[in-house]
Amino acid sequence: MIRMTNEDTIAAIITAPGIGAMGALRLSGPLAYDAVSRVFHGKKGRTVDELEGYSLTFGGVYDDGAFLDQALLLKMKGPYSFTGEDVAELQCHGGAVVMSRLLAIVTSLPDLFIRPAEPGEFSLRAFMNGKMDLSQAEAVMELVAANNPKAVLLAADQLDGSLSRQLNQLKDGIVELLAEIEVEIDFPDEELGGPGGAASRTDKARRLLEEAGELLATADRGRIYREGIRVVFYGRPNAGKSSLLNGMLREPRAIVTPEPGTTRDVLEERILLKGIPLVLTDTAGVGRDGGPAERAGVERARQMAAKADLILYIVDIMEGITDEDRGFLRELDHEKTLVVFNKIDLQAQTDGSVLAAAGQADLALYDGLLPEEFADLPRCGLSALEPSGMEVLAGRIRAFFEKGDKYGKHKEIMLNQRQSEALLRAGQALGAAVRAMEEGQPEDMAAIDLKQAWDKLGELTGESLQPALIERIFSTFCLGK
Ligand code: GDP
Repeated sequence: MIRMTNEDTIAAIITAPGIGAMGALRLSGPLAYDAVSRVFHGKKGRTVDELEGYSLTFGGVYDDGAFLDQALLLKMKGPYSFTGEDVAELQCHGGAVVMSRLLAIVTSLPDLFIRPAEPGEFSLRAFMNGKMDLSQAEAVMELVAANNPKAVLLAADQLDGSLSRQLNQLKDGIVELLAEIEVEIDFPDEELGGPGGAASRTDKARRLLEEAGELLATADRGRIYREGIRVVFYGRPNAGKSSLLNGMLREPRAIVTPEPGTTRDVLEERILLKGIPLVLTDTAGVGRDGGPAERAGVERARQMAAKADLILYIVDIMEGITDEDRGFLRELDHEKTLVVFNKIDLQAQTDGSVLAAAGQADLALYDGLLPEEFADLPRCGLSALEPSGMEVLAGRIRAFFEKGDKYGKHKEIMLNQRQSEALLRAGQALGAAVRAMEEGQPEDMAAIDLKQAWDKLGELTGESLQPALIERIFSTFCLGK
C-alpha cells in the first residue's frame, strides 16, 4: 500500500530490469542527498550538498568503500523536480546486479531510513505536490503503454494538460453558474443573478451540457487508439474473408498490455496495420465454415457486428452484390460498415479493368457496383492476396476514422474506463440540472446536480477523489514511476 505522506525518502530502480546500456536509481524525499553522499563520490570531490540545485556530476558509486561502478549523479532540488521534492538519480552502466546492490545499500543505511518506493509512488508524490493533476499522471502510464503513434500523440497531449484544460473550463463554468444560483437564492428580489435571470442560467446550463457531450464524443473516438479498433469480417462464403484476415496477420503484431478485467470469450488478434491498432475479433470463425455470416453463425455474427467499431463487408467483385448481400447489408449499421470489393486482380486479368489500373484509389469507380440504397457506404477495392491490398485497406480505415472535424473544436482525447465513467456521470448530472431548470423547479434542485457534475469532473483531475481511490489508481502504475 502506498502511503500518502511525503515524510519518507523513497528509492527505486527506474530502468527496466535486465541488462541494458544504462541503469538508474531514483531517490526522492528529504534524505535523498544524505543517502547519495554515502554511496556516491564526485570526481572533483564536491559533496552532494555543494552541487548546484540542478546539476549533473560524474563520479563513482561505492559499496562500503569498494568501487562498484562509474556513475552520473543527477541532482534536482525540490520543488523543481518530478515529485516536487529533493530528487537524486544515479545513472550507472546498468546490469541488474549493480543496480539492485545499489538499491540495497541505500535502503539499509544504518542511520538513515530510506525505503523502497511502491509502484506509482513517485507519480503520487508529484500529484500530491501539485506538479500534475490525476489526468496527467495517468497520461504518463498511457504514454508508456501506447502501442501506436496516434495513442502516443494523444497521451502526450494529455500529459501536456490538454484534457485538464478542457475539464477545468467545464468546471469553471459550473462554478460560475452555481454562484449565480446562490445569489438568486439568497437575494431573490434583487436583480443580481445577471441579465435574463432564470432563462439565461438555463441557457448556460445547456451550453455546459453540450460541452460535456462533445468531450464524451471525442473521448469515444480516442478510445479506439487506446484499445484498438474492433474489426469484424462479414460477407458471403468465398468472398475472401479468410484471405484478407491472413493478409492482415502478416503485418507485425502489436505489443499490448492486457486490460485487467476483460474476459476473453472470443478469439482476438491484435495487429498494427500500417500503424493503426486493430483488434480482429472472432477470427476463429472467419472463413472456417464459410465465415461468421454462414447460417449457423448468423446470430453470433450479428452480436459481433453490434460490438464492433468497424465491419468489413467483403464482396467478391467478380460476383458483385447479390440478393443475399443486400439482406446482410440492410441489417448492418451503416455508420460503421466499410464495403471491400475483393479480388480486383481477377477482374484485371479478365477484362484489363480500369478498376485495377486506377490503383484502387479512385473510389468513384466503385460507385456503380453498389446499389442505390447503399450509396452512402464507404467502399474500396483491393486484392486480399497482394501486399498492396493491405495498404489500400489501411488508408481506407484511417480515412474512415478521421473523417472531418465532426467533433467541433475539441481536441481528441483518450480516456481510460474510470475516466469515461466519471465523464459520463458528469454529463448525466448536467442533464438532470438542465431538466430541473427547464421544468422551472426551485434552483437549489439544479444546484445539487451541478455540484455533482463538478464532483464527477473532479474525479478525473483528482480533486474530488477519495484518498483511498487515489492510492489505488497510483498503485496500478509500474514500479519506479
Ligand atoms: P471466405 O470464405 O470468405 O473466407 O473466402 P476465402 O478467403 O477462403 O477465399 C475464397 C477463395 O478466393 C480462395 O480460393 C482464395 O484463395 C480466393 N481469394 C481470396 N481473395 C482473393 C483475391 O484477392 N484474389 C484472388 N485471385 N483470389 C482470392
